Amino acid sequence: MRVLVLSDIHANLTALETVLAHAEKTKFLGETGFQQVWCLGDVVGYGPDPNECVARLRTLGDDLLCVAGNHDWAVLDKLPVDDFNPEARRAVLWTREQLTPASRAFLEELPDEPLVRGDFTITHASPRHPIWEYIIHPATARENFAFFDTPYCLIGHTHVPVIFLCRQETQSGESKNVCRALAPLYDKALGLAGEHRLILNPGSVGQPRDSDPRAAYAMLDTEQAIWHYRRVPYPYELTQARMRTANLPYRLIARLAYGW
Ligand code: ZN
Repeated sequence: MRVLVLSDIHANLTALETVLAHAEKTKFLGETGFQQVWCLGDVVGYGPDPNECVARLRTLGDDLLCVAGNHDWAVLDKLPVDDFNPEARRAVLWTREQLTPASRAFLEELPDEPLVRGDFTITHASPRHPIWEYIIHPATARENFAFFDTPYCLIGHTHVPVIFLCRQETQSGESKNVCRALAPLYDKALGLAGEHRLILNPGSVGQPRDSDPRAAYAMLDTEQAIWHYRRVPYPYELTQARMRTANLPYRLIARLAYGW
């Protein structure tokens, strides 16, 4: 099955539409299109289009698989807003006021436990703490391999595309569980299978934080275990203009142009 993997849309409809259109028309393993969309959480928060992003995802119907993120929970008051920095908190409170009953119902139904589909575990933050934990360093990734059983786990949350590879290695005659971080490759598809397990982060659609403002996503062939990182420019000025109209915090508007 061909899957479009996306995460951290953060109510940025312009970025979401750009990614969906790009994934639809760009060839992956010789063909265009995809059968499913796997969304790794944080559909809302930060951006100006929470209802529009939910509505767009709902048009995917049964082809969509989506888990809850910390911002999705915060706007539903399932997490205290005091846990967020001041700008994020303002965006959460603004989003709460905007949400329609239909959007709220969609977010309420998002599972907060990891989902398993074949060889893939799907979660927002980490398999150990699906809503909150940040897997930034290989040491954190290594601990998390004990919390899922499949060869691969897909996560979002950090807004940084990365693959954590973990395997047994013999060093100085001693067998050790070694984990390292691999930077994304955009120019070719990657076979995932090997004597290792992987945690993969596609990066963020609506608010990238790796100094690259282009929207990030990945294509996945689940049978062949082939993964392809993608980046696509989108007109972030349009998103910024709607954020200004909504009076969202300046820092959240500014960061979209730089990817921080
Ligand atoms: Zn996020």
